[in-house]
Amino acid sequence: MKFSAAVFGVLLSIVPLALPLNAAQTEPHEHEHEHEHEHEHEHDEEFTALGAHVHGKALLTLVLEGNEMQLAFQAAAQSVLGFEHKPSTAEQQQEVAAAIAVFNQGNWFSLNAQASCEVLNAQASTDLTQANVSGGHADFYANYQLLCQSPARLNTLSLHIFSLLPALEEVEVQWIVNDQQGGSTATLANSTVQLQ
Ligand SMILES: [Zn+2]
Repeated sequence: MKFSAAVFGVLLSIVPLALPLNAAQTEPHEHEHEHEHEHEHEHDEEFTALGAHVHGKALLTLVLEGNEMQLAFQAAAQSVLGFEHKPSTAEQQQEVAAAIAVFNQGNWFSLNAQASCEVLNAQASTDLTQANVSGGHADFYANYQLLCQSPARLNTLSLHIFSLLPALEEVEVQWIVNDQQGGSTATLANSTVQLQ
């Protein structure tokens, strides 16, 4: 399904309201998406607008304001689970449940200890468990709220996710720490991001 420029424009204007953490990433990913997903699917418009659906990749945004941090992870379900269809066997259902449990534990990332950040709330989900999954693509999401006792000392985000998820090759990290922002790409070989 192709989008007219007008409809896409409307989507872009809606997305920042609904998903403020993803708003900044819309344009660069759009370009990438067109190259890596030539084929069109029913669900593509949604992912195109969000810009995060590239197999093997994930997007992680970190926003710190005062003591409060929000982390938002979004990836193609393929990147997390190794498949992207509705789980049809008990084993696949177990894999989905296990992945959600891992992300709900929130141990796959860590911040430098001096910042004294703790996870207050974690919520992982995937389109694959929705009743209306109908082929095409699906995403996996995890959102976290953290409280940092010494936010001024925050300087490092480390990911411990690549050894858990063989299908995940890289995570694009975008961060906003108070008034500063930056971004970089984390991989198994380079899994620590400097937040300054
Ligand atoms: Zn896909």
